[in-house]
Amino acid sequence: MSSANTYTRNMPNYDVHVTCSECSQTHFVSVRLDLDEDGLDRTNLADYFANRPKPSQIAFMQTNKYRCPHTKQLYSAADLSGAILFAQT
Ligand SMILES: [Zn+2]
Repeated sequence: MSSANTYTRNMPNYDVHVTCSECSQTHFVSVRLDLDEDGLDRTNLADYFANRPKPSQIAFMQTNKYRCPHTKQLYSAADLSGAILFAQT
């Protein structure tokens, strides 16, 4: 007898990367979003949250500062137009 049970979730996870003002590259800021939508890879967060409520993780991220791994300087994630969703596979 075979089981059709599956333990994989279909909800995609997205990593949030923020454009760094110090080196102009994007860095992962340790924020992951469970969004019940496919096809959001490389979507701009400012666009995505333009007419949706922002999750608390994102509000917190905007108040936080992150250290650039290249320049070791702190950069801000306040501007969501520089934040991008990357789909996890
Ligand atoms: Zn950087």
